[in-house]
Amino acid sequence: MLYRTILPSLLILTFACAAQTPDVIYYNGRIVTMSGSQPQAQAVSIKGNHFLLVGSDAEIRKTAGAATRQVDLRGRTVLPGLEDSHTHPITSALSEQDGPIPVMNSIAEIQAHIRKLAEITPADRLIFVPKIYSTRLVDRRYPSRYEIDQAAPGRLAMTDNGYASVLNSTVLKKLNITRDTPQPADGKIIKDAKGEPTGLILGAPKLLASARQSRQATYEDRIRGLKKMQKSYNAVGITSTIDRGQTAEGFRVYRELRDKNELTVRSYVTYMVDAKGTTQQLRDEIARIPWVTGFGDEWFRVGSLKTVADGGILIGTAFLREPYGMNTKIYGYDDPDYRGVLAVPRENLIEMAKQANKLGWQMTAHTTGGGAIDALLDAYEATDRERSIRDRRFTVTHGNFPNAQAIARAKKLGVVFDCQPSWHHFDGPALKDVFGPARTAHFLPFRSMLDAGIVVAGGSDHMIRFDSRKAINPYNPFFGMWMAITRKTADGATLHPEQGVTRLEALRMWTLNGAYLSFEEKVKGSIEPGKLADMVVISKDFLNCPVDEIKDIEALTTIVDGKVVFGGT
Ligand SMILES: [Zn+2]
Repeated sequence: MLYRTILPSLLILTFACAAQTPDVIYYNGRIVTMSGSQPQAQAVSIKGNHFLLVGSDAEIRKTAGAATRQVDLRGRTVLPGLEDSHTHPITSALSEQDGPIPVMNSIAEIQAHIRKLAEITPADRLIFVPKIYSTRLVDRRYPSRYEIDQAAPGRLAMTDNGYASVLNSTVLKKLNITRDTPQPADGKIIKDAKGEPTGLILGAPKLLASARQSRQATYEDRIRGLKKMQKSYNAVGITSTIDRGQTAEGFRVYRELRDKNELTVRSYVTYMVDAKGTTQQLRDEIARIPWVTGFGDEWFRVGSLKTVADGGILIGTAFLREPYGMNTKIYGYDDPDYRGVLAVPRENLIEMAKQANKLGWQMTAHTTGGGAIDALLDAYEATDRERSIRDRRFTVTHGNFPNAQAIARAKKLGVVFDCQPSWHHFDGPALKDVFGPARTAHFLPFRSMLDAGIVVAGGSDHMIRFDSRKAINPYNPFFGMWMAITRKTADGATLHPEQGVTRLEALRMWTLNGAYLSFEEKVKGSIEPGKLADMVVISKDFLNCPVDEIKDIEALTTIVDGKVVFGGT
């Protein structure tokens, strides 16, 4: 479908391009183009910031002029520049501004890290350990307040992941949270059999707001952070990304770097709205934003409007279709009827979809559980009845549990998905414990989604840490593609391998499908004449190497806009 519509214009471009002398020719390679008409090639030429011609060594090299630089790829594989459809580059960069955060797989390792922080943190300052998920700890539970007390007696210390926090006794005292504190409307204070708070608090953002911020980042921190993170993305072959949540200040950071020509990753930036107040407040908030989807250029473009409709499967706040069941202890509570949290009222999701549709915004919402996906699709259907959203690429972000019905509804509405395959690797083992094998069949069912004709883009949801494979979540695109293909979990098992995708489908998730989410599949996402010259030379033969080697592939040279931004030549 896509190729049928863009092929005529590409043919015209090919004739126009043929007469030009290339600046550079890359030859003697295995070029995986992702083009329907010419899937593989040996050579590609570039003029300025566009691909000029793609073909055999002989065809392309004969077009060289006296000033054309020629680069021998020595048989290496070249892919289109990769796109991560879900990152948080600024917060990720700031996460390690006070020093590296180690990988912590157990409560003992968290305690050891807190002990170290206690030595270097001023006595009156909070010791803050971010992104601790019980599902990713060997203990399969959160630490208790007492275990944190042990590591830093008398100090202010807490772990946090944005949805579930564990406060030690000193922080509980400072916030005046006791056995008598009433349950907050937006969360839950977990208490032990004697009624004492265990330290674990689910949700309750207002209660925790004053505790959370250890150091306020400045505008300059954000500028520095974004530049640094984009360089790290380039180092793994990423040339485009969708930033999945910015405020007005974040947009100013992108604008400044765009104006100075200092962006090295093309960025489609999502604007966050709260959507938890009244529908009138929501309308006012959206009306105040002075842009709309599509404003900008191929370096920095205004993306979709987003809200956060539920929690997460890592933390037991994903809003499900039916109760979690009997095995919720891992999340820190015991309640067989619990279904999770729909954080945004249904009428607000509908109002947001209507406003987005009316004003020209693309819309998305963080929806992890099946119940939340269904509520979002209800909202999309409601506005579609008034005015079609078929071509608007309204999006489901995360979409962990789309069942057959949700997939069919999404297809009918032209709804696209932004999914995170590597979650499956880290959370699969715990999810099996909570849900059992039958219910995990609907966890990221890529095969069913692609077979239904849904466009699924691959993303990481990178939130902290610079290291591409140790980050939460790993933003190494080869790790993500390997997971989408193999569905191997951290415990060495494979969870529903029948839902795996082919190598080319995985690559499409990280190239053309990402471009599709930002309405840019005609200008990037494949190596074709006339498209933006974004590509990556990699260390292994992506299409033919043993499948488990895919996760270890390294980027050797990354080219964005015709320029080398990482590696040699
Ligand atoms: Zn995210």
